[in-house]
Amino acid sequence: MEETRDTVILGSGCAGLTAAIYTARANLKPLVLEGHEPGGQLSITTLVENFPGWPDGIQGPDLIDNMKKQAVRFGAELKMSHLASVDLSVRPFRLKTSNGDIFARTLIIASGASARWLGLPSEQALIGHGVSSCATCDGFFFRGQQIAVIGGGDTAMEEALFLTRFATKVTIIHRRESFRASKVMLERAMANSKIELLTNTVVEEVLGVQEKSVSGARLRNVKTGDKSTLPITGFFLGIGHEPNAKMFAKQIDLDDDGYIKTHNNVLTKVPGVFACGDVQDRRYRQAITAAGSGCMAALEAEKYLEDHGH
Ligand code: NAP
Repeated sequence: MEETRDTVILGSGCAGLTAAIYTARANLKPLVLEGHEPGGQLSITTLVENFPGWPDGIQGPDLIDNMKKQAVRFGAELKMSHLASVDLSVRPFRLKTSNGDIFARTLIIASGASARWLGLPSEQALIGHGVSSCATCDGFFFRGQQIAVIGGGDTAMEEALFLTRFATKVTIIHRRESFRASKVMLERAMANSKIELLTNTVVEEVLGVQEKSVSGARLRNVKTGDKSTLPITGFFLGIGHEPNAKMFAKQIDLDDDGYIKTHNNVLTKVPGVFACGDVQDRRYRQAITAAGSGCMAALEAEKYLEDHGH
């Protein structure tokens, strides 16, 4: 099936769906390709308390559902589709998807960022069996247990603090002496009697692969070389996120960490291609800022089409 669309939006998180609402209301009949993590990070979180307009908070999946309904009401089309490759050197842009080729006069990239993993085979084998990258999604399952959180930034501190609601003990394991986390978050973690901080330590293996359930972590102190085993049943990653932009690397500019470089907020170096949300924002990463940049991308796409006679 081949078709040409005024606007195709990659990603159905907060940024993508806001772009969909705006472009749909502008009558551009946007096509949203939902990607491999439909709904983005909000769909795997629980209560969102800081999205303006919801004084009592709203569950992340409900917020996403509402945005989808709002976009569809104005004529957006959502499709579960995997994007195999994209050619931005032709006009309209050519997208190869699992459901055939699609041509787009404007492209809004809102493909977000995914949690980073250590990459240990034992870690990968135990995902969903005690290994998780989302404390807010899975913390509940670890009531009364001992947990490790990996990382030394704000995400690790936030996850560890959240997990103390359920766990009897949370050990933060960080590979260096000093932390990347903000002072306030670090102090909060240090003040919590359930949290222990283990520095200069790396994980060599997550134990429990045979039993299909995490039973511990084999650790190594990078300064002394000492090895030890930490008995835990939960292993949470808090080592940051990876922007989902690799497939654009040769066609638009990415920064050293793989985030899409934009100018004037959402413009990429290719006219007609816009980027919004976590795939281009390494600083704020909030639902409301993602929504804001989704709105900007939509308005820019609308203007671009108008300027080019569509
Ligand atoms: P981050 O600041 O980049 O920190 C990632 C941490 O993981 C670093 O301590 C890093 O160690 C460690 N790490 C990375 N790869 C590793 C690996 N392969 N093995 C072991 N450790 C590894 O990422 P983040 O914590 O996700 O924060 C990102 C941004 O979001 C920050 O600006 C942060 O302030 C913000 N944020 C804010 C809040 C909040 O304020 N509530 C919550 C979450 C995030 P090194 O230090 O050695 O590099």
